[in-house]
Amino acid sequence: MRKYDYIIVGCGLYGTVSAERLKSKGKKVLVIERRDHIGGNCFSYEHPGTNIEVHKYGTHIFHTDNKKVWDYVNSFVEFNRYRHRVLTTYKGKVYTMPINLGTINAFYGLDLKPSEVGDFIASKRENIKDPRNLEEKAISLIGKDLYEAFIKGYTMKQWNCDPKELPAEIITRLPVRRSYNDSYFNDYYQGIPKAGYTAIFRKMLNGIPVELNTDFFDDKEGWLKRCNKLIYTGPIDKYFGYSLGRLKWRSLKFETENLNIDDFQGTSVMNYADSEIAYTRIHEPKHLHLEKEHTSTATVIVREYPHIDDNEPYYPVNSESDKVLGVEYNKLAAKEKRVIFGGRLAEYKYYDMDEIIESALKTENND
Ligand code: FAD
Ligand code: UDP
Repeated sequence: MRKYDYIIVGCGLYGTVSAERLKSKGKKVLVIERRDHIGGNCFSYEHPGTNIEVHKYGTHIFHTDNKKVWDYVNSFVEFNRYRHRVLTTYKGKVYTMPINLGTINAFYGLDLKPSEVGDFIASKRENIKDPRNLEEKAISLIGKDLYEAFIKGYTMKQWNCDPKELPAEIITRLPVRRSYNDSYFNDYYQGIPKAGYTAIFRKMLNGIPVELNTDFFDDKEGWLKRCNKLIYTGPIDKYFGYSLGRLKWRSLKFETENLNIDDFQGTSVMNYADSEIAYTRIHEPKHLHLEKEHTSTATVIVREYPHIDDNEPYYPVNSESDKVLGVEYNKLAAKEKRVIFGGRLAEYKYYDMDEIIESALKTENND
């Protein structure tokens, strides 16, 4: 009856890396996926009519300092040398993000030097001891003016709540720089797979059966009977039938438009800081592949909207009450001896792709 060594629920990055590693050790593996495609949120496709590679679930930049992870992904596909820069529009003017000397000088109409900006920001900062939430943390780092211009509206839209209700650590993902360095990430290794993200998944899944359009919950007990071990990468609260209550998730909606112009915004990601503008950012994927000759004069843009949809969770919100609930669900998970819970949804953690791979590479040691 137990036909497979492992059944893996979810064909995202965690599930796919686990599948690839386990197969390489001779394990019999099956992957099931509720969507109609592989790749999870990293999925990309060539837009019909143009040769532009579109990231269906928002721009994904691979960035890491972990050489082992970088070597691992590069053993499947070649990456380009793209380094991410983000611009943000606030009241009709464009600024560079994350906040750096250029942003500060442009915003205040000043010509501060790197040696002066520390004192200047210190004069704006509020001295908040032990900031308890995102708003307090941001104001303690950059002061109210910059917070209200570049963080408050964007964050309210993105997380669909008051920044006071969000954990402080979300904002520490963004550095504040005293130089003109406007590279979005500090990581040494960065790039986009030349042939798109889905190519990585195809390569990793070579020889591994994948059943698409298959929801684990349509036959939970049946799938468990068919394997020695199960790797589950869906939402952890759903696995336990929400028995302890629902975790809060943030969802997104993407609106794709094909335009008959060569270049819409001159960059891959433009954030919109004003709360009155419904979308948080516009992606223009053409700019992710400077190495590619785009034959058509068309471009594709993708508007990203915050959205509430518990059936399509993207980000864990991780408020204080969620953290408590998350710990309780983890205790339940630890009791499921034949099930490994891995990835953003099953661990309820705000993971980047490199962290997912690092964690999934350890799965084979659980065997
Ligand atoms: P997922 O990709 O969500 O995969 C889980 C899979 O499980 C999904 O395909 C889902 O359909 C499937 N599934 C769920 N429930 C079931 C079920 N019941 N039955 C069958 N299948 C099921 N990271 C970066 O490093 N750089 C970036 O620039 C970056 N940008 C991002 C931008 C956006 C808008 C988002 C949302 C994320 C971004 N990330 C980025 C994070 C990255 O997407 C994740 O780290 C990674 O995709 C998580 O992989 P995963 O396998 O844990 O989850
Ligand atoms: N953020 C913001 N303004 C911006 C960019 C980011 O306020 O222009 C905040 C927002 O709260 C976001 C957090 O900084 O959730 C982290 O940004 P990052 O780009 O890492 O978020 P991601 O899109 O990867 O979730």
